[in-house]
Amino acid sequence: MSINILEIIYLIASLTFVIGLKMLSHPESARKGNLIAAVGMLIAVIATISIYQPFDNSKLINYGLIALGLLVGTIIGTMMAKKVQMTAMPQMVSFFNGMGGACAALIAIIEFQNHEVGTGSSFDGEFLVMLLGLIIGSVSFSGSMIAYGKLEGKIKDKVLPMNQLINMIMLFTIVALTVYQMLGYGDSTIFYVLLVVALVYGVLFVMPIGGADMPVVISLLNSFTGVAAAFGGFLYGNKAMLTGGILVGSAGTILTILMCKAMNRSLTNVLLGAFGGTKASGAKGEVGEQTAKEISISDTAVLLSYSQNVVIVPGYGLAVAQAQHICHELEQLLEEKGVTVNYAIHPVAGRMPGHMNVLLAEADVPYERMQEMEEINPRMANTDVVVVIGANDVVNPAAKKDPSSPIYGMPILEVDQAKNVIILKRGMSAGYAGIENELFFYPKTRMLFGDAKDSLQKLTAEVKEV
Ligand code: NDP
Repeated sequence: MSINILEIIYLIASLTFVIGLKMLSHPESARKGNLIAAVGMLIAVIATISIYQPFDNSKLINYGLIALGLLVGTIIGTMMAKKVQMTAMPQMVSFFNGMGGACAALIAIIEFQNHEVGTGSSFDGEFLVMLLGLIIGSVSFSGSMIAYGKLEGKIKDKVLPMNQLINMIMLFTIVALTVYQMLGYGDSTIFYVLLVVALVYGVLFVMPIGGADMPVVISLLNSFTGVAAAFGGFLYGNKAMLTGGILVGSAGTILTILMCKAMNRSLTNVLLGAFGGTKASGAKGEVGEQTAKEISISDTAVLLSYSQNVVIVPGYGLAVAQAQHICHELEQLLEEKGVTVNYAIHPVAGRMPGHMNVLLAEADVPYERMQEMEEINPRMANTDVVVVIGANDVVNPAAKKDPSSPIYGMPILEVDQAKNVIILKRGMSAGYAGIENELFFYPKTRMLFGDAKDSLQKLTAEVKEV
């Protein structure tokens, strides 16, 4: 009877995951969706602890230890989530994802203690699931930790000599050891060798990948963790864990594909490309022979105030400067003066999918003002002024014009079609892809140098005076 109740609770929890995931696809419902799924998870955890009976009754459930684990995890998780800066979100996701991978691997290790290694005479499906959970969970754990270290700037991109060859050998070793185990030849030593090889493989897999591609890699590792957790759910016959794992696995895979598409790059290119990382920079306003034209705060204020249509392009720099609130204030001021203001959102602006939507939503920018790239690009030619705030790669015309550019083929916001372009950034530093941007030297472009928040504060004060 009690098992049936547990099954029903798992079903309800699974439903909350599906509903929550669906709601996450829109900024307006995302918070609520996250909460719904979290409540579902909490119910599943409480139900498992209070109702679940181990098949082997000789094993007592250590409630004290479980409570301690829950307490420590909750305290650390809450503290990290409260402290994290918006721009540091990808590394936090990576860290939490790594913990998920570690959990999946630990489940496999614990269950291995209770498992008799087969003789090879019959196929042991449970053992295979255990081994796969161990391997994928371990790769995800160590890979995520390296990704976290890279995004925190603690680990530098490093391509070891013959890195790809070593990776191929490691992968082959993992497959060979798994087959060896499955055929019944292995013992517990081989099991732990497999664990170590998988951990090392995770490190070597992520190590050579360029810093710019970390968010894609994190999404990929996220899907690994999902699959590893699903194996754990399969092992325990736990439907909530199984569904949760499958949802994370498929969502991670879809997100990886979408991010690659938005950058017009293949996953192989991301994994082997060593893209980005290097930063081209020059003296303020100059790169090589070229000099960019500057504009003053007062000229910008006049230009904006007497425009009919203004499009704001937010980028990573807006997030760094935390200038979203003052940006919204400027937008409202201009609207009061009769100027139509919209935001052009590039799918990979910032450092994580949906970064700009979340940032602007935080400042209460109405959703209808945030326009997708496909929607706004055809209207660029009719725009009086485009104000690019801390964006660079997502407006770089090289993506359309220069086949030798690493971002060639990436769809961009076609701001060069507008009548005037004003770019707010601190200097001439490159964006994430580490490349120059000829847009800065176009006749219709003018640079407003300075920290985005500082410039916007001065601009807002000036617009009030116009
Ligand atoms: P970029 O990284 O191309 O450029 C950001 C610019 O902001 C820099 O050139 C910098 O110039 C400027 N900046 C930094 N700090 C400030 C500040 N305080 N005030 C004003 N300006 C500042 O950003 P984009 O958003 O245009 O592009 C995102 C990049 O990230 C793309 O290459 C994309 O492919 C990549 N990426 C995004 C992912 C996502 O999911 N969103 C995932 C993976 C990669 P300066 O130092 O001179 O001020």
